Amino acid sequence: MTVSHILGYPRIGAQRELKKATEAYWKGDLDRATLEQTAKTLRADHWQAQQDAGLDLVSVGDFAFYDQVLNVSVLLGAVPERFNAAAEVDQGDVALDTAFRMARGRAPSGEPAAACEMTKYFDTNYHYLVPELHAEQTFTLASTRLFDEVAEAQAAGFTPKVALTGPVTWLWLGKQKGAAFERLDLLDRVLDVYADVLTRLAEQGVEWVQLNEPALVQDLPAEWQQAFERAYNRLQSASMKILLATYFGGLGDNLSVATRLPVAGLHVDAVRAPEQLDSVVDRIGPHQVLSLGVIDGRNIWRADLAALRERLMPLKVRLGSRLWLAPSCSLLHVPVDVNAEADLDAELKSWLAFARQKLDETVTLARLLDQRATNADEQRLADATRALDGRRDSARIHQPAVATRLAATTAVDSQRATLYAKRAQAQRQALALPLYPTTTIGSFPQTDDIRVARRAHKSGELGTEQYEMRMREEIAYAVERQEALDIDMLVHGEAERNDMVEYFGEQLDGFAFTRFGWVQSYGSRCVKPPVIFGDVTRPAPMTVRWSEYAQSLTQKPMKGMLTGPVTILQWSFVRDDQPRETTCRQIALALRDEVVDLESAGINAIQIDEPALREGLPLRQGEWQVYLNWAVESFRLSASGVTDATQIHTHMCYSEFNDIIGSIAALDADVITIETSRSDMELLNAFKDFDYPNEIGPGVYDIHTPNLPDVDWMVSLMEKAAERIPAERLWVNPDCGLKTRRWEEVEPALANMVEAAKTLRARQ
Ligand code: GLN
Ligand code: ZN
Repeated sequence: MTVSHILGYPRIGAQRELKKATEAYWKGDLDRATLEQTAKTLRADHWQAQQDAGLDLVSVGDFAFYDQVLNVSVLLGAVPERFNAAAEVDQGDVALDTAFRMARGRAPSGEPAAACEMTKYFDTNYHYLVPELHAEQTFTLASTRLFDEVAEAQAAGFTPKVALTGPVTWLWLGKQKGAAFERLDLLDRVLDVYADVLTRLAEQGVEWVQLNEPALVQDLPAEWQQAFERAYNRLQSASMKILLATYFGGLGDNLSVATRLPVAGLHVDAVRAPEQLDSVVDRIGPHQVLSLGVIDGRNIWRADLAALRERLMPLKVRLGSRLWLAPSCSLLHVPVDVNAEADLDAELKSWLAFARQKLDETVTLARLLDQRATNADEQRLADATRALDGRRDSARIHQPAVATRLAATTAVDSQRATLYAKRAQAQRQALALPLYPTTTIGSFPQTDDIRVARRAHKSGELGTEQYEMRMREEIAYAVERQEALDIDMLVHGEAERNDMVEYFGEQLDGFAFTRFGWVQSYGSRCVKPPVIFGDVTRPAPMTVRWSEYAQSLTQKPMKGMLTGPVTILQWSFVRDDQPRETTCRQIALALRDEVVDLESAGINAIQIDEPALREGLPLRQGEWQVYLNWAVESFRLSASGVTDATQIHTHMCYSEFNDIIGSIAALDADVITIETSRSDMELLNAFKDFDYPNEIGPGVYDIHTPNLPDVDWMVSLMEKAAERIPAERLWVNPDCGLKTRRWEEVEPALANMVEAAKTLRARQ
């Protein structure tokens, strides 16, 4: 029999129950017992869903109040000293509030302290809390939560398989703090506790533990490869079957490392890396289980069950009961239930599968392979095939004009007419800006008033005309404020935008929006990515009337504001029936039309934000260049339809440019604004060393804190910048958009920023 299982289930709840309860608890509106009860109910529901679907094992250990990597840090007692939890660690019972303080700096009880760093989990939009490691670090079993959850599942009659971040990946994701040392030196100490964990789980009667080791799909230094051997040789002695889970890509040169490990089973990603199947099957030990991740855990499309059955049949014959089936990775990365989407039309819905549906797909596939399909399975197979056939031919997806246009684009289309140096002259004339021109990144505070108006408009209470009037008022206010502050290049403030991707997706064809398609991004925060299901077109201008109105209010140049093609792609669920790069180019063409229309409407500077360019980088460095090539080309395609005098800006808010600086330069934006204030301008070294040719606005203050930036400090930052980039090519601006701040914070900060720019000019 083919065992079917999942690597993890979304824990947030179909109605975001966990989010709501946790936030209420943080606010003091919900007591801890009620919070725990909500969590318990959710876990039980999720296990029940897995059992009802017919899975052979239910996933335990995938639940977390905040983050599953943080759970392991707590389990191992790796609680940084500043949280004052030594006693809790010693007693083996780290409090929930301690974990919350690690995650967010504060909790209903305990002293606030600086939160742990948070960063993206591999190439997902999920953020984990970075384990903090220091040379003297000790580890001890410091929480019973995992064991309690196992007992809870067993008491309710479920057969748990425990899922846990593996020891090597946990260290891999960690960061050294304090005196220099190698974090791998901590491995043996970490393994001691993992061994204890496994022993305890075995005592509880757990048969399988899934240790997640996605580090194995990345480029690993030799000592990290060896660490896997060391780790799993050690853990082998625990009387527990280990399923080593890899996902988000292929094993590549870690293939022999992974297949040689003394574990009872190996899970590989057959969606992202189908090409590795045969070599994995060839190498897997004669008694090892091979769990194939065949249902896409990272996307929302319905699986092609017929094709999968055909592909898997020969493997089933070879592996027999050693073949297991699962989604490719934890279902944490997809929404819960497509059946909740009452507003999506039946056709589109029939193309989709969320977490709940992916359970069914996994089970049906297993039963099809075992020749024990029920009528319901046969029906599901037929439905899937019909839906997929329909999708393949649907006129909603394929707009021949899009393909024709894309095929007709040539290298010339993704190139400005002349080189930067010449464009800069034309722009200088058109824009008449002073030295060290000041600007902002686009958004101004999204006040409660704005949100109330948007909600009222959405629900129909506020008519479109009134709503647009309200937004115009906001724009006028933002323009007036900027004029008063004497900023040189203005923005309209983005009051009319709910979200920088959704706003555009809603106006483009080929996009659909869900009502409950929430996916956890970090902690209690969820995002609802749009679904790009078809060819992308722009039926009408999207931003022109707002920018035009804003420009009509001022003599100063007004910067148009768009989200770039790569960012729109990156923050959506993308169709899987054509290469991502094709979808990206389609978006780029739609944006290109918008850029040209803005120019025609008298907008002389247009910013195309690409904050997600870097996060699109593949996990393997060997694949970077291919991605960067089409990403850069897409940006340029969107930006290159304008004349020399129109200034193209871009914005990115991260601070690692070293390894992609060539591609950043290749974007050929006239101006790039970046996040730099926290790096003391050192970040600009990458630009200097590369001889970055165009203009740069290195953010002079961090918008993430409410602190008022000091004039002298900003002046000195810009002087440091001028040591690296000629002053004629420098702009003065904040690190990022101001939508999360309040006007009371924004105005004095910008006033100081403008004063800093004036001081700099006076010193010339
Ligand atoms: N223009 C956007 C803003 O100002 C940019 C947001 C971002 O960088 N993520 O909000
Ligand atoms: Zn930003």
